[in-house]
Amino acid sequence: MSEIKKYDVCIIGGGITGTALGYFLCKFGKTSVAIFEKSYLSSGSTGRCAGGIRQQWSTRANVRLAMRSVKLFERFKEDVGMDIEYRQGGYLVLSYNEQEAEQFERNVKMQREEGLNVEILTPKQVSEKYPYINTEGIVMATFCQTDGHANPHKAVIGYAQAIRRMGGDIYTHTEVKNVDVQNGRVTGIETSAGYFACDIVVNASGPWSREVSQLVGVDLPTESYRHQILVTEPLENFFPMMAISFSGNFYMRQTQHGQFILGQGDKDEKPGINHNVTYKFEKELASKMVRIFPFLRDIRIIRHWSGMYNMSPDAQPIIGQSEKVKGYYYAVGYSGHGFMVAPAVGEALAETIVFGKALHTDISYLDLTRFEKMQIEKEKNVV
Ligand SMILES: Cc1cc2nc3c(=O)[nH]c(=O)nc-3n(C[C@H](O)[C@H](O)[C@H](O)COP(=O)(O)OP(=O)(O)OC[C@H]3O[C@@H](n4cnc5c(N)ncnc54)[C@H](O)[C@@H]3O)c2cc1C
Repeated sequence: MSEIKKYDVCIIGGGITGTALGYFLCKFGKTSVAIFEKSYLSSGSTGRCAGGIRQQWSTRANVRLAMRSVKLFERFKEDVGMDIEYRQGGYLVLSYNEQEAEQFERNVKMQREEGLNVEILTPKQVSEKYPYINTEGIVMATFCQTDGHANPHKAVIGYAQAIRRMGGDIYTHTEVKNVDVQNGRVTGIETSAGYFACDIVVNASGPWSREVSQLVGVDLPTESYRHQILVTEPLENFFPMMAISFSGNFYMRQTQHGQFILGQGDKDEKPGINHNVTYKFEKELASKMVRIFPFLRDIRIIRHWSGMYNMSPDAQPIIGQSEKVKGYYYAVGYSGHGFMVAPAVGEALAETIVFGKALHTDISYLDLTRFEKMQIEKEKNVV
């Protein structure tokens, strides 16, 4: 009989969360680490996302996570060894109503207190700075130059290559089917490639977070919703920033190769995994975006796909360790902004596992117990 393989830490999910965490664990010297991914790396939300990296949030928790992540993205090439097309072209946040504009003023005050350099722009200033935007209906805008975007596939591949170089293991096309819990502590996982013993299991399974948590016997208040997104044929590069509007319900950026990636939310989506796409989405988004960005008028859509937002009740991530099952950790429920905060989350969770506490970003108020204590503040800046 072959011997059972053992790891200190088994991570469920090979998206940006699982690979960022694996990277920091290895970097801090804990190399007895394995990632289990049921499909290919970045096949979940990460590989389907827009790659936006924004620090302009309405809650301090998200601002802090995003600001720390930006520090880590700035050093990504040097530290992790991969060019991920990271560009700090800024984020232009457009408001189309007075009430939201007032909220933006409060957000900017808090963001500045956190040390973020954010500008407030009038519609006239938007028009002077970006003459190719139709500013009709815009009440005000905010802009942060150190916001930006990157290629999410390359970020995952970069982390994965670094993990392997440092001695960690990655199993792709390997599904975790069960988690072995004995006397209230994690002892191993059952996978499609057999049993692995371990002391710690981390749920980094994105859209499947609730189902995976049920394998451990812990209920997580997360639900997944489809979000559609499309890409156009390329134009010459001239659009450095990500433009986004919560009241206008859209976001858009230009990739290094010139294509525009754009999307919007749909309040009528029902929870559940659904990777289909609809013509309604293309039609609605295209007619709106052509009005606001008239240069899009004659360019063609080349691809349209969908992914999942794993939502939490307050639209902030749920990160921590279970009080019920020893050795069970989770980093889920990002609610549409997990790519941008994952480096800081990976670092903080790895510090918690290796050193007993997070050293760079306080994540204590993001754990599951906040919902029992009703200590929640809903994030408003979400498309
Ligand atoms: C259209 C769209 C646009 C977005 N735009 C942005 C953006 O601009 N900026 C931003 O920050 N975020 C954005 N997001 C959100 C972002 O994509 C996610 O928050 C982030 O990718 C979550 O990463 P993750 O690693 O936690 O999850 P995922 O990338 O989903 O990875 C989880 C992985 O776990 C695997 N898995 C699940 N169950 C099992 C199992 N039992 N065994 C083994 N493996 C398993 C899955 O196959 C999957 O690959 C967007 C999302 C969508 C859908």
